[in-house]
Amino acid sequence: GSSVEVDPGVEVDEEIAEDDLLGGLRIDSTEDIEVPDRLVDQVIGQDEARDIIIKAAKQRRHVMMIGSPGTGKSMLAKAMSQLLPKEDLQDVLVYHNPDDGNEPKVRTVPAGKGDQIIDAHKEEARKRNQMRSILMWIIIAIVVGYAILTGSILLGILAAGIIWLIFRYTNRGTDAMVPNMIVNNGDQRVAPFEDATGAHAGALLGDVRHDPFQSGGMETPSHDRVEPGSIHKANKGVLFVDEINTLDIRTQQKLMTAIQEGEFAITGQSERSSGAMVQTEPVPCDFIMVAAGNLDAMENMHPALRNRIKGYGYEVYMDDTIEDTPEMRRKYARFIAQEVERDGRLPHFTDEAVEELILEAKRRSGRKNHLTLHFRSLGGLVRVAGDIARAEDRDHTTREDVLQAKERSRSIEQQLADDYIERRKDYELQVTEDGVEGRVNGLAVMGEDSGIMLPVMAEIAPAQGGGQVIATGKLQEMAEESVQNVSAIIKKFSDVDLSEKDIHIQFVQAGQQGVDGDSASITVATAVISALEDIPVDQSVAMTGSLSVRGDVLPVGGVTHKIEAAAKAGCSKVIIPAANEQDVMIEEEYEEMIEIIPCANISEVLDVALMGEPKKDSLVDRLKSITSTAFDQNQGT
Ligand code: ADP
Repeated sequence: GSSVEVDPGVEVDEEIAEDDLLGGLRIDSTEDIEVPDRLVDQVIGQDEARDIIIKAAKQRRHVMMIGSPGTGKSMLAKAMSQLLPKEDLQDVLVYHNPDDGNEPKVRTVPAGKGDQIIDAHKEEARKRNQMRSILMWIIIAIVVGYAILTGSILLGILAAGIIWLIFRYTNRGTDAMVPNMIVNNGDQRVAPFEDATGAHAGALLGDVRHDPFQSGGMETPSHDRVEPGSIHKANKGVLFVDEINTLDIRTQQKLMTAIQEGEFAITGQSERSSGAMVQTEPVPCDFIMVAAGNLDAMENMHPALRNRIKGYGYEVYMDDTIEDTPEMRRKYARFIAQEVERDGRLPHFTDEAVEELILEAKRRSGRKNHLTLHFRSLGGLVRVAGDIARAEDRDHTTREDVLQAKERSRSIEQQLADDYIERRKDYELQVTEDGVEGRVNGLAVMGEDSGIMLPVMAEIAPAQGGGQVIATGKLQEMAEESVQNVSAIIKKFSDVDLSEKDIHIQFVQAGQQGVDGDSASITVATAVISALEDIPVDQSVAMTGSLSVRGDVLPVGGVTHKIEAAAKAGCSKVIIPAANEQDVMIEEEYEEMIEIIPCANISEVLDVALMGEPKKDSLVDRLKSITSTAFDQNQGT
């Protein structure tokens, strides 16, 4: 397509590129990487959005971008402004209207002309003022001279004062001649980019300031109180509005009018201010609108405005992740160079520091063979790491700095999870080497990126009526489903009829936070089987995984974070679904702390988690024979 491939201008070793975290890039630090000049070439990933921006810039179409924060929406909008022709730029001047002071006149001139006009007017005003003062002093001299001659000096001084005052306060007349340049593109080298995210009506649509002295020669002429809005400053350029739905409906309506008309008069926005009496002639606002938000925001925006943009422009979705290829990894290295350059004060990153960041981008993607496109938070990490190096006056940002930065820039959820673990240490929730019946260390993810260990306890009791699954809190549904799945398996090897039992399932210290239920179903199953068969569970083992009716362990999300949580909590083994094996991207420090055991079947899980042979062996053997292949054949009977 129209994408211009910019490889960082550094030697690339193609032989090792595939497996190399730097994609074969031969660099000592990010200093060796060339950053492209144009913003549009700095954008990483988002190929579709990029193509659309380029196309829309040519055709002057509006664009709507839908996607997660920090994926490059405003960056692309800004890049678009750099692609627009700058020859079209204009200056806008507001003049006093001698016929109606409350309706200032508006004139548009080519960019740069405005300054000349203002200068000419100022010069003329200065000359007039000069003439006026000369005139004033002549009159004063005559009056004072006459007074001295007639002997009434006091009267003379008084008269001189009055003359001075009259001249001083009729001076306004000359000020009114100088126009007010509300849009000045004289020094503008590219088409304007205006970010109107979160702007109130005045900032977006323009305003006329209140004048406390509305008469009596003290007032500021109305044209001088006119202030442009973002829509006017964005004339011939790009107006970017993120979270567009947060603009109030009336403002959205006015914005739509502005888009339709290509011009919009400025008036005072607060009703009781003297500015509200003033309304200028229409001021040009011929901008391209780039509206952004998440899907929710789009649905809540003014339908007419949305249709307008849709009908006259493009709509594009932003990607959250991108496939991990050597070329992409090289671009991520360039991303760091870009951020370092943009900041201007951060020391460049060593190759190892870059590798650690790319690893983090892989981890944050939460997807096999993908890299996250959430660049704002990644950029935050770059800055924190760079700041650490800078504070110590070092030439380069190192891997250590990146690791420390990660520690510092933990999300609220992570800090909460750590806090949990801290607090738990005060109670009896520590990991032990013992075996406990019916108690399993589950793992969950809080927020987006924080693992937490979440013990599950199961207890079996004779049913009072029909057998029930009783779980704490919101996890009832999940518990029921897990038990249902495991009961199909239990039926095959146990004499116990689950329908005659009440199964109590307790999630120890599960907060109200979003604990993802599905990934705990092998945990619940293990707890139930342990309680049912009176076989203890090894408390130094933690686990995550989803369970199918056939006893297969199915993949889950967030394994990396969960493994790290298990390691932090002091577990020595962690069970994960075999299908998740490739998603594991834990940090080195954890690798020695914990053994990762991939399991494909519940029998393998129990083999690792249960203690106390020979009871356990016999159970696992029975299970093996009925789950998986054997299970299929038994199914029909
Ligand atoms: P959004 O508008 O989607 O919330 P921004 O465009 O403001 O995100 O992104 C914030 C910063 O993150 C940018 O200024 C840039 O430094 C970096 N960034 C975001 N997306 C990308 C991208 N696709 N490629 C390179 N850098 C990016």
